[in-house]
Amino acid sequence: MIVVLTGAPGAGKGTQAELLAKRGGFKKLSTGDALRKHVKAGTSIGKLAGAVMERGELVSDELLFSILREELALLSEGELILLDGYPRNIAQAEALDSLKSTHPVKAAILLDVPRQELVARLSGRRVCGGCGATYHVKEQPSKVAGICDKCGGELSQRPDDSPSSVNVRLDIYEKATRPVLEYYRKHGVFREVVGVGDPESIYGVLRDTISGF
Ligand SMILES: [Zn+2]
Repeated sequence: MIVVLTGAPGAGKGTQAELLAKRGGFKKLSTGDALRKHVKAGTSIGKLAGAVMERGELVSDELLFSILREELALLSEGELILLDGYPRNIAQAEALDSLKSTHPVKAAILLDVPRQELVARLSGRRVCGGCGATYHVKEQPSKVAGICDKCGGELSQRPDDSPSSVNVRLDIYEKATRPVLEYYRKHGVFREVVGVGDPESIYGVLRDTISGF
């Protein structure tokens, strides 16, 4: 049984996936991680994917699906699987559905965080020009504002983390994800969980939402 967990960059998906794996009995399956594993091990799939990525292109749906199918085959039947990074489009969602006799999608959950909050989280990152240490103005501030605790270097914001760049990234994410969420809504398995507040309470709601299916 599969639960698809989605959320924009900065929504806290990683933290919640960690909690679901540690306490919720879920096995995490990330297609991105599996892909990197193949590339590193130099398998035939990995060589194919590595060449595509070197050209700066996206790995094809077919290749990603064969990786997913292989990973699923390694897990015992009846396992609770938390799928991360897949599906990213309708073709991938349909491919996943072709496995429903053994691995049905029980729920697709969006960790929903308002845009304003996402921008605040993502644009709060500061990086030390001296040693590369990273901070966050709200969640992990340095002792003295703008100065690195470790080396006394100056902290600055990467161009990618500026609010305008962050907004562009979030637009791209939303545009790509919307059809997939719509797909699961039509199939009656879509739910939203508010991803604002303390991670423990978010986890509680998430867990209850999943068991409610
Ligand atoms: Zn430093």
